[in-house]
Amino acid sequence: MTIAAPSPNRPLQDSHGRTISYLRISVTDRCDLRCRYCMSEKMTFLPRSALLSLEEIAIIAERFIERGVTKIRLSGGEPLVRRDVGELVKRLGRHVGAGLDELTMTTNGNALAQHADAMVAAGMRRINVSLDSLDAETFRYITRHGDVDRVTGGILAARDAGIAVKINMVVLKGLNEDHVAPMLDWCVAEGLDLTLIETMPLGQIDEDRADRFVPLPVVFDRLSAQFSLARDSHRSGGPARYWRVEGTKTKLGLISPLTGNFCETCNRVRLTTEGVLYTCLGHDDQVDLKAILREQGVAGLDAALDGAMRTKPARHDFDIDAAAPAVARHMSVTGG
Ligand code: SAM
Repeated sequence: MTIAAPSPNRPLQDSHGRTISYLRISVTDRCDLRCRYCMSEKMTFLPRSALLSLEEIAIIAERFIERGVTKIRLSGGEPLVRRDVGELVKRLGRHVGAGLDELTMTTNGNALAQHADAMVAAGMRRINVSLDSLDAETFRYITRHGDVDRVTGGILAARDAGIAVKINMVVLKGLNEDHVAPMLDWCVAEGLDLTLIETMPLGQIDEDRADRFVPLPVVFDRLSAQFSLARDSHRSGGPARYWRVEGTKTKLGLISPLTGNFCETCNRVRLTTEGVLYTCLGHDDQVDLKAILREQGVAGLDAALDGAMRTKPARHDFDIDAAAPAVARHMSVTGG
């Protein structure tokens, strides 16, 4: 009897039977905004010497594609502040339709107007842009110095260049919870989608996140009184559940890691800008792919990825009321 050798490109499967098809990459931990729920005002960033080169990011990403990853999201930090990120977008964009179903990005929109055409040319068709309020003062307060007109200008430039834009809005008690309905109205008027997100306990910030936490079911009930919302079966490959604003093109998504755990269907892993692979946003299980790549070359990556699959936790244990965040690292490090 002959025993077939294991395929080198076998799909990535964790020990809970989940197939990993989605890689998020933090291309830099730096950001040109300082959103209060994300990082502290005096956040310190990694020295440039600690980062993966763009070439190394591409090599690792390509090995993931060969192992069955069909969706890659570039995030951060702010991906558009990394010099030459366009080169990475171009290189990974070549895999769209040839291994990758989708190359996408999460950005704060500050530099979108300059980059939108190149992103489209590279094959990017959908992006997420963070926008927590349309009110200039509130936006400036949450981001600590952001300019809302610059971000909305970038969003509309990206849309006009042919990119479908989904707005990410973290709902915060006493700050922007009354701004959700106006945001949904604006998204309907501009032909954009909106996803609401619960604040998650990731990394120390200057305030207690529990004071700002709003459960999304409460927000959804309020919106339902104002908008006609119909459940939509759309799946983006991510954690959101969707509704359609009836009579419009706009989808409303809810990402509620605290009130509606979705770990059972988790298909994601995350690569930090330092080259560390985290198998869960809310745990510290990790593999140092940078060290492996530098010591063993691409050949070493497969065993490392298989090992990472065996340690992927079943679920996160987020508790917004806990004295300390679930993990010490911020979302900007792991890649949101
Ligand atoms: N700079 C980009 C941006 O602003 O979208 C990408 C990185 S940012 C970390 C990615 C997403 O994570 C944003 O939508 C942001 O609102 C969200 N985020 C950051 N910290 C979070 C937290 N503690 N809980 C929930 N969402 C968070």
